[in-house]
Amino acid sequence: MRIALISDVHANLEALQATLSDIQSQKVDVIHFLGDAVGYGCDPNACVELICKNCQVRLLGNHDFAALGLESTEHFNETASESLSWTRKELTDRSLSALADFELENISDPFHLVHASPRAPELWEYILTIQEAREQFECTESNLLCIGHSHVPVGFILTPEGTISQRVANEMEIDPENRYILNVGSVGQPRDHDPRSCYVTFDTEQSLVRYHRVEYDVAKTTTRMELLGLPVSLSERLLVGR
Ligand code: ZN
Repeated sequence: MRIALISDVHANLEALQATLSDIQSQKVDVIHFLGDAVGYGCDPNACVELICKNCQVRLLGNHDFAALGLESTEHFNETASESLSWTRKELTDRSLSALADFELENISDPFHLVHASPRAPELWEYILTIQEAREQFECTESNLLCIGHSHVPVGFILTPEGTISQRVANEMEIDPENRYILNVGSVGQPRDHDPRSCYVTFDTEQSLVRYHRVEYDVAKTTTRMELLGLPVSLSERLLVGR
């Protein structure tokens, strides 16, 4: 079975369309979405609709959670809350009720899927360091925890001896002796200095994880964002992937 994992679409329709067509060429059996369908970008409704149409597991991210009014945007920075108020006005009732059905986490073989962290999915913790990874490994029984949230594709590997290494991998064979936390990167707002969309495929027969990068029309997206009055810093960061 081949599974694709996508995350952090952030209402970037051009990026999502390009990613879905690339996934189609990979002949995957199923696509799972790890959260943040909306926020930052200018096509929240179309993105929610495409995610519902194409993804089997659909998780809530912190931006989706805030768009649903489930928490305040106090901890959001200025541009994030500005784009969130824009998003709230834009979202239709249909999109809101679709988003309300997204889950906070999903645990089903071979994965534990969560947007931010397994310790407390609704606290939106980041897993950026080896120490943070060590703490979160203790909060899951799965050997393959897949996350999004930081928009930086990276893997943490825990060996039976207890050592954790951090790896940015294009391709990784999953060793059943080890445990893994894989950040699948971001479709709609990559932050690893590569503006191309990022997603992951997992081949369960070959135990092989592969990171994919997909080019899309970034200039088209940024022009539309600027025309719609979204903060310029949000469109500028798409051009450089950070
Ligand atoms: Zn995000």
